[in-house]
Amino acid sequence: MSPGPAGPGDWPGSVPGLLARCTFPAPGVPLACAVSGGPDSLALLALAVAAGCAVTAIHVDHGLRPGSHAEADVVRSAAERLGASFRAESASLGDGPNLEARARAARYALLPADVATGHTMDDQAETVLCNLLRGAGLDGLSGMAPGSRHPMLGLRRRETEELCAAMGFDPVRDPSNDDPRHLRNRVRHELLPLCAAIARRDVVPVLARQAELLRDESELLGALVPGAVPDPTDARALSAAPLALARRAVRQWLASPGSPGGHPPSAAEVARVLEVASGARVATELAGGRRVRRSERRLALEGRSGKVPPVKTERAASSVPRWGLAEVGEPVVTAEALAERVAELGAAITADYAQDAPLLVGVLKGAMIFMSDLARAIDLPVDVDFMAVSSYGSATRTSGVVRIVKDLDADLEGRHVLVVEDIIDSGLTLNYLRRYLQARRPASLEVCALLVKEGEQRVPLDLRYVGFKIPSAFVVGYGLDVDERYRNLRAVHLYRPPEGR
Ligand code: 5GP
Repeated sequence: MSPGPAGPGDWPGSVPGLLARCTFPAPGVPLACAVSGGPDSLALLALAVAAGCAVTAIHVDHGLRPGSHAEADVVRSAAERLGASFRAESASLGDGPNLEARARAARYALLPADVATGHTMDDQAETVLCNLLRGAGLDGLSGMAPGSRHPMLGLRRRETEELCAAMGFDPVRDPSNDDPRHLRNRVRHELLPLCAAIARRDVVPVLARQAELLRDESELLGALVPGAVPDPTDARALSAAPLALARRAVRQWLASPGSPGGHPPSAAEVARVLEVASGARVATELAGGRRVRRSERRLALEGRSGKVPPVKTERAASSVPRWGLAEVGEPVVTAEALAERVAELGAAITADYAQDAPLLVGVLKGAMIFMSDLARAIDLPVDVDFMAVSSYGSATRTSGVVRIVKDLDADLEGRHVLVVEDIIDSGLTLNYLRRYLQARRPASLEVCALLVKEGEQRVPLDLRYVGFKIPSAFVVGYGLDVDERYRNLRAVHLYRPPEGR
């Protein structure tokens, strides 16, 4: 490697032109640069020094490749040659899935929040396409914002290679950049060339320009949100706001660091929260055990996971009548725990539906006892109706085939319907019922299930109220039967099939 430039005249002739398209901070400003030793980051280091910044090059060794120490040396000697400070960090990554994402997270945890990276216009185009393929909205399609964190978005990757060559650097080549298992690499090596061939032009500047235009619009929308929806928990303001602003307000609210489990919601989740705001549903479950519910025109966001009580399994053979001793095992949920939880569920339903008392739809026969206890725990003028479905005969496995044995008497149109279910196993029965009832155009449709078997559901469920999560085993009692027997047990018990059954 040749000795470093001693003064401005010693820099390669391309440098002033390159700097004119960069967004480095003013001369003398301290700038930490993430430098892996690849061509982009070595160019970042050189240009940051050429821009007059007080540069510290930081290299993070993930220890993933043999010889990764040598990569730190490449960065150290480049920094020394350019008169920049150098810092080496090492991240330790254990075994496990999604190595790429974990390496990235470890790297950013070690780097300062305002670290500059060597992303170029080509990276910007890849980011936009990757985000598009992931289903991102306006923010994701806006790509990275130019500024001191991404000072080289105006440059092409080819130009960083050329600068390294002109400066006599010998950049590190990361073989994982060619691994087709990473989406970004396929976008880089397959999708972008295909787009260019079809469009018959270099699409990188096109995508970068589109990202820039979208970013302006995204910023404008962001600035309009506080005026349109000053308080995202105000259901009426949310419903009255233009949809694009209402969506943003919900997204910002759910992703804000102060909110429980704050991570960005999916588009479907945002849509469901807006349905809660408009009154089309009373509440909705979100990823990570969170839920949003409405009461008194206010939306409340709560972490839900801790709310479903764990089941205390106790040996209480004395609670089993003599006629059931052979087949009825230990209680999975005691009569006392059932009474306590039903009272809690009743109180929650009373609060949530204070404006519009629901129509309770009980699913016969299993939910009959739960339904009658729950209805009495709700302090509102509820209406009650039943339907009967059959999904089990005497077998203890679901067939997935659901037959409506008795249909509802009530008209559901415009009603707030709360389905009261005994137990969710595969979730197929409920899934079928939901579609069936939804077709009758209720104002909202929610589910209160007494028991949910853990780890058994084959379809996503959106359960508004859950009594207990229980281990996956066949149970009887409190309405649940085998061949019509055991429904009148006061607790929920394990079922012990007789030999040969
Ligand atoms: P899924 O469609 O969710 O698999 O099954 C739901 C229906 O199957 C329930 O409504 C209930 O009738 C029946 N079921 C599921 N698990 C059990 C159980 O452990 N005991 C009894 N008695 N019935 C069950």
